[in-house]
Amino acid sequence: MDFIPFNKPPVTGKELQYISQAIAGDKLSGDGPFAKQCEQWLEEHTQCNKALLTPSCTHALELAALLIDIQPGDEVIMPSFTFVSTANAFVLRGAKIVFVDIRPDTMNIDETKIENAITANTKAIVPVHYAGVSCEMDTIMAIANKHKLFVIEDAAQGMMSTYKGQSLGAIGHMATFSFHETKNYTSGGEGGALLINDQRFIQRAEILREKGTNRSLFFKGMVDKYTWVDIGSSMLPSEIQAAYLYAQMEQAQEINHSRLSIWNNYQNAFSKYQAAGAIELPSIPSDCRHNAHMFYVKLSDVDVRDQFITHMKNQNILTVFHYLPLHSTVAGRQFSHFYGEDKYTTKESEKLVRLPLFFNLKKEEVDRVIRVACDFFDKLV
Ligand SMILES: *Cc1c(COP(=O)(O)O)cnc(C)c1O
Repeated sequence: MDFIPFNKPPVTGKELQYISQAIAGDKLSGDGPFAKQCEQWLEEHTQCNKALLTPSCTHALELAALLIDIQPGDEVIMPSFTFVSTANAFVLRGAKIVFVDIRPDTMNIDETKIENAITANTKAIVPVHYAGVSCEMDTIMAIANKHKLFVIEDAAQGMMSTYKGQSLGAIGHMATFSFHETKNYTSGGEGGALLINDQRFIQRAEILREKGTNRSLFFKGMVDKYTWVDIGSSMLPSEIQAAYLYAQMEQAQEINHSRLSIWNNYQNAFSKYQAAGAIELPSIPSDCRHNAHMFYVKLSDVDVRDQFITHMKNQNILTVFHYLPLHSTVAGRQFSHFYGEDKYTTKESEKLVRLPLFFNLKKEEVDRVIRVACDFFDKLV
């Protein structure tokens, strides 16, 4: 019985050719021809104002925190059910993280809990589009505008998803994508992008990403020497990463369709168990088109969830859970606090388990995952 992994990095076929092309060219550092093509692709497909590739989504979040000038003591509101970088990017600048509860249906930040958590120190809201399913962005943008706060979308999982027809990443003041190998599209293992919608940030973003120099203006012929003009860091991925990513962008629809078809197979096979009250399945609000980033099942509690993982593992299928809510972690207790009641964050996260879902997952493997999972669910009804 072959092992079915939880994830394999997507490969579409053109990656090696494009990497060879990059090597044969005369620029392997950042901002090369493939990087430009990737950024243009992102701008066209999301309709964001400006896209800048970064070495990771973590870096893109850190860049966003620098751009909105987070200072020690500033507060940033986000869900606790997220990856550590969502918080750490702001903690690095001295911010205090304020977590609010999630909605049990989408596992996204509960937009109705945000406004009460705002204080005179609040600087930004960071909605995380969990599983590539959008947060309730109209409400979040209205709250942000009313209180003059920035919205940084953590759209790490959200490329190719939409909210009311608008691409995720094109809604907040800025947004971040991840091209880590566990995401729908990868730039060869690690990578990310900062998407900028508020034009005020574009020029400074290019400077901060280029070690605090105006090198990008120099390349555009807008200054005749480049020099140190601001704080900054090195946040450009290499041309080899961009070449890998561009091969994936060219196949973005194929990857999306293939993932959605796996997702729908899971959903259809398991819906009768949801109807019987044995499990819960992801729910997609009608305003949202998702990208099948993830298929998860929620079981009745942490014990049943762990029994399920063991059951799948015994049949050579790897299923995983995440995230340990950040407010309960060692660093979380130091840098954050949870505003209001933790009604769903901890409870719902303990029920959740993710099934294998990746571009190169074969139909017969999907069928086997379904068969083995159903053996377990049958015993619950
Ligand atoms: C994957 C992920 C990140 C981090 O992405 P990297 O590219 O690995 O830095 C941040 N936030 C969320 C919600 C993620 O899923």
